[in-house]
Amino acid sequence: MKAIVPPLSPAAQLPSLLKQVFGYDSFRPLQQEIMAATLDGLDTVAILPTGAGKSLCYQLPALVRDGLTVVVSPLIALMKDQVDQLRAAGVAATYLNSTLDGTEQRARQTDLDEGKYRLLYVAPERLLAGDFPKKLAGWKVAAIAVDEAHCISEWGHDFRPEYRQLATLRERFPGVPFIALTATATPRVREDILSQLRLREPRIFISSFNRPNLSYRVIPKGKPIRQVWEFVSARPHDAGIVYCQSRKSTESLAAALRAEGLSAVAYHAGMDANERSKNQDAFLRDEARVVCATVAFGMGINKSNVRWVIHADLPKNVEGYYQETGRAGRDGLPADCLLLYSRGDVMKQLKFLDEISDEQARAIARSQLDQMTEYAEDEGCRRAYLLGYFGDVWPHDNCGGCDACLSPRETYDATVECRKFLSCVFRIRQLSGFTTGLQHVADVLAGGNTEKIRRWKHETLSTYGIGRDKPRTDWVALGRQLLRMGLLQQSQDGFSTLSLAHEGLAALKDGRDFTLTRPPVSVRDNPVSATAVAKAGAIPCDEALFAALRALRKELADARDVPSYVVFSDVTLRHMARSYPVDDAALLQIPGVGDKKLADFGQPILQAIAAWLADHARQSFPALRPAAAPARKMQAEGALNGTALATLERFRAGISIDGIASERGLTVTTIEGHLARAVESGEKLDGRSFYTSREEQEMRGAFAGHEGPALLPIYEKLGGRISYGKLRLFLTFETAGKSAATPA
Ligand code: ADP
Ligand code: MG
Ligand code: ZN
Repeated sequence: MKAIVPPLSPAAQLPSLLKQVFGYDSFRPLQQEIMAATLDGLDTVAILPTGAGKSLCYQLPALVRDGLTVVVSPLIALMKDQVDQLRAAGVAATYLNSTLDGTEQRARQTDLDEGKYRLLYVAPERLLAGDFPKKLAGWKVAAIAVDEAHCISEWGHDFRPEYRQLATLRERFPGVPFIALTATATPRVREDILSQLRLREPRIFISSFNRPNLSYRVIPKGKPIRQVWEFVSARPHDAGIVYCQSRKSTESLAAALRAEGLSAVAYHAGMDANERSKNQDAFLRDEARVVCATVAFGMGINKSNVRWVIHADLPKNVEGYYQETGRAGRDGLPADCLLLYSRGDVMKQLKFLDEISDEQARAIARSQLDQMTEYAEDEGCRRAYLLGYFGDVWPHDNCGGCDACLSPRETYDATVECRKFLSCVFRIRQLSGFTTGLQHVADVLAGGNTEKIRRWKHETLSTYGIGRDKPRTDWVALGRQLLRMGLLQQSQDGFSTLSLAHEGLAALKDGRDFTLTRPPVSVRDNPVSATAVAKAGAIPCDEALFAALRALRKELADARDVPSYVVFSDVTLRHMARSYPVDDAALLQIPGVGDKKLADFGQPILQAIAAWLADHARQSFPALRPAAAPARKMQAEGALNGTALATLERFRAGISIDGIASERGLTVTTIEGHLARAVESGEKLDGRSFYTSREEQEMRGAFAGHEGPALLPIYEKLGGRISYGKLRLFLTFETAGKSAATPA
């Protein structure tokens, strides 16, 4: 009897195609679920961080669909790259855009008429122009993918008016499933995507925004050119991006780095289009190792081996910072993010803010800047801060991949210094009847001889010179810490003069003790060249062989006039350089080697490895830990960690949030986070002790109809009046309340 083998369903064919075509053994988190949903004919939205592998979510299903998958993508310059990558894997893909001449356009359209392609990349404006819609209707469209879908939203950071026209596509192709993809998580953008694209009961997939392979570091900004140069020189094989605030500084920095012998180019929106794309190409093709760019650079950049991102100036908000750092390490290998921070940058930006005429807009920009400053000055885990910003909870005490976790700052008894500082502020006011800026207070403490001191006779103060034992920069740093702790306050009149906050006055009167964390005092203590800290995702390999394979890859890529990563990613080369494949079967085991790449590049690679082994000993390496699949959404752990517990104990003892924050030298946001975590893990606390009933009402109104973890839109809706910490606590109480009400 003959067994009847039913044909595999499209979804069931995916795992073998994944290996055969793309050379990967397993799916990344959520990829398979997303593909299954789109193959079921559902509209889907995939919100996954950069590097999560969104492209595959429409590319792989395209291979099993009957018909053409149309991909809408915002950047003409990058379509060719994406198509090149697919073709290198043996996938019939093409693109249509204004860079092609008439003959080439017609040839491709004829091929489309004949159904020769599985994927077609187009720019949104073209999709609806002239007789294109009619043509499209004849090409048996089976799915429509909208990449970088946040471009449709004015609330996003890359609004493209052309994307708005995509709405009419849904009417033209009523039965065709849409898939929208983005790395932007805010609910407002997400809602815009759903409504603008007219998606029908879409399945929405959101993954954690943690990027385990990225390390985060903040150091005081000294001489930025020198700092960037040191950092880059310490990583002679790695490419990266330096983000600068102004167009001019991108050019001057690139020129300075070139003068030091580094291959650096500039990139900004004000450049001539030719030069801009030439510079971008040089970076994508590993000819320039450094690109000094404004925020105009980056969206859709496919280069997977960006090994570091430096922010030479303070970004305007945490969301932008997260997106820009996110361009590092798409391949999953360790990558470093460094922020050069100075108060001067904050001041500069505050000046720009004054020019915003709309009051509400100014308030939002101001609070975003405050958050960014808080990130830079915070002593806590940077990863926890970033994730907290997006409403995610980082459930561990130590992330192992940021400066705060890797070299926790020392704490010390700062009672004497704090009292000196606070009383100096007090005495100045008492003598002069006005308040002064931070720098002046530091001058008085350090016993300086400045014009202001003489004019105001501040050398007669009892606190004059009582801090001679320390450099005045230490006093400035201490003053900032006291500001952050809420013991001092700064005037909002543009002069930023210091006065004692209620809490500071009380502390001075009660003779409280202070334990502080030592601030990073100087650039000298924070060498920029320090080696990569994030080891998550590392693939140890024979570095010399890796270098040789990289050189070979460049030759293969140049011969085909494509960027290196189109041939093989760094991950693939590292796997080769640790398992030394010497025949086709072994080569096929390497992640990233599929049938087509084996046929095209197998020979030269195998020869190179055989030749290498003739002269070099084979090294051996520890087995790789399989990457732990991140949870769909991070959950707070049942047990509280030590630091949260310490907060909880004080809170139970009746100390206010502000009080705990100053006592522990942590920010109010951090303390609120600890308490939210306590509530999540079952601690019975009363919401009323955190916010007023008026605030509660306001929050309830703002949260109505709001879904998802990101708090930014709510924060904005409330005009920044209610802190993130309170919003988070409110949300936590609400959810805890609801789940308690649900019978088990
Ligand atoms: P995104 O668009 O989400 O930023 P990409 O689609 O550009 O990410 O993918 C990032 C990198 O991950 C690419 O180099 C891609 O080849 C790789 N990748 C995607 N899916 C997998 C997988 N299942 N296994 C291994 N690598 C993958
Ligand atoms: Mg992408
Ligand atoms: Zn950390």
